[in-house]
Amino acid sequence: MGPLDRDGKWAFGIMLPPGVRAMEDDEIIRRVHAAMRRPLDVEILTREAWAAHRLIADRYRNGRILLAGDACHLHPPFGGYGMNLGIADGVDLGWKLAAILEGWGGEGLLDSYEEERRPVHLRTIAEAVQNFRVLSDHLKDNLDADTPEGERARAAVVAEIIATKTREFSTLGVVLGSCYAGSPVMVDDGSAPPAEHYSECEPSAHPGCLAPHAWLDDGTSLYDHFGLGYTLLLLDDAASALAGRIRDAGGSAGVPLTVLDLREAGLAGLYQAPLALIRPDQFVSWRGSDADPAELMGILRGAPAAAKPKRARAPRSKKSAKGQSSKGAAAASVLLT
Ligand SMILES: Cc1cc2nc3c(=O)[nH]c(=O)nc-3n(C[C@H](O)[C@H](O)[C@H](O)COP(=O)(O)OP(=O)(O)OC[C@H]3O[C@@H](n4cnc5c(N)ncnc54)[C@H](O)[C@@H]3O)c2cc1C
Repeated sequence: MGPLDRDGKWAFGIMLPPGVRAMEDDEIIRRVHAAMRRPLDVEILTREAWAAHRLIADRYRNGRILLAGDACHLHPPFGGYGMNLGIADGVDLGWKLAAILEGWGGEGLLDSYEEERRPVHLRTIAEAVQNFRVLSDHLKDNLDADTPEGERARAAVVAEIIATKTREFSTLGVVLGSCYAGSPVMVDDGSAPPAEHYSECEPSAHPGCLAPHAWLDDGTSLYDHFGLGYTLLLLDDAASALAGRIRDAGGSAGVPLTVLDLREAGLAGLYQAPLALIRPDQFVSWRGSDADPAELMGILRGAPAAAKPKRARAPRSKKSAKGQSSKGAAAASVLLT
């Protein structure tokens, strides 16, 4: 039960017992009274049947038609993931559509939308379905009884809630921790992506992960310095020449690219590389010290002829960004755009 406004309109949800398709007004009002433990003057303004789903589209794109949000995937609302997923679909798709309209994006960019988002959808749907397995009406009766049985029932319910519901409400790893590793418009660096966990979210600049955040010395957020297009983070002196060549290749390909000079910021450890390329949606698409700039641009913009270089996957490094300071030593300055 929850308020819909401040003037006395409330929403009241009832799980229909198996086989029951509808409920009389009298029975609904009786249940409201039972839930509130007092008689209330109740008027039913409207009612709506709703069913939990576990559904995902077979394909997300047909030419100029792309599916996003609930039109593409449906799951039980437990975990509060639906709107999050829909917005993140829009974030993934929005800049790709802009790239097509601006003329620098290739067809591969639009196809990558499904390849990047579908694994995230499947993971999130599985979480939501798991959360749906235990709901409040599955919990025991007799919780209010001032008796030893009531005491035992309350203790059992506390244990059950902690065991089954923590995963529903402690979800940073699901909301922020998904990685687009394997995307055709990113370049794998051979390292292993961070392990997935429902509540833990380890900052990682592995290509496909959300760019690790850092506060800079002037108190600004690293994210506030990212450009609207791609942003190349220059994190080490040794990579200056390559940064210039990548900037030039971006210019030739029409890819909007900002170079951020962060050589004094001490972030090379956090990013585990002297250079890192951040996409318009703030995901890392490449990091390293060596690249063919023209080939790199071809892959990033989903150009038809671009073939991804294949690299052997190295065992996961024990060295992680954990424990590294997220505060850079110097403010960012935009070197070149
Ligand atoms: C009980 C419940 C609780 C939820 N709690 C949460 C939560 O805590 N956190 C969370 O993130 N998500 C939650 N969700 C999920 C969230 O509400 C949805 O995932 C989200 O609204 C989906 O957004 P959407 O834009 O994809 O679709 P919708 O919100 O369904 O928007 C689609 C719009 O398209 C319109 N439309 C349909 N057909 C046409 C047409 N032919 N022409 C023009 N317009 C059309 C519809 O009227 C609608 O306005 C919950 C959902 C439910 C049911």
